[in-house]
Amino acid sequence: MAGQVAYIGLGSNLAEPKVQVLQALQALDGLPYSRVMACSSLYRSAPVGYLEQPDFINAVAQIETGLAPRELLDALLELERKCGRTREFLNAPRTLDLDVLLYGGLQHHEHGLTVPHPQMHLRAFVLQPLLEIAPDCVIPGIGTATDAMRQCAGQQLERIADAV
Ligand code: AMP
Repeated sequence: MAGQVAYIGLGSNLAEPKVQVLQALQALDGLPYSRVMACSSLYRSAPVGYLEQPDFINAVAQIETGLAPRELLDALLELERKCGRTREFLNAPRTLDLDVLLYGGLQHHEHGLTVPHPQMHLRAFVLQPLLEIAPDCVIPGIGTATDAMRQCAGQQLERIADAV
């Protein structure tokens, strides 16, 4: 399969978060024209924004995909919906959150889709797992993931297990 390499951020803090993330990894592998090439360990992170909610479980997956960026996002949103996610308010707890972090070297903005993901360089729970599977990663328009991670050094993050 000749496709683009993309990175997907996974997060959950409801309904057995570890199970949610592991199931989502399998579901990613089942997307059309796509397969999971690598996955980070699982990490536990403290909530951001709205603090009165459980910790999150996070991971990052590297996939190869023949889906276009918009098709990929739509497929991820469909997976979120299947996992019963509702969007009650900004930063609310969620059973499953899937983000397109990077799509090849693409820099792209359209309604409802920004790549690279606009907050990824500010979040240790994205950068640390990303660096685990892509140590030389460059975020287009931002710089190296390593440099971005240095700016996030104060954020609480705990590596809890190897995925799969
Ligand atoms: P959130 O649930 O906070 O992750 O926000 C999801 C919304 O962000 C979706 O409805 C998308 O349309 C939008 N969005 C914009 N860029 C991205 C991206 N790179 N990955 C995932 N969602 C995105």
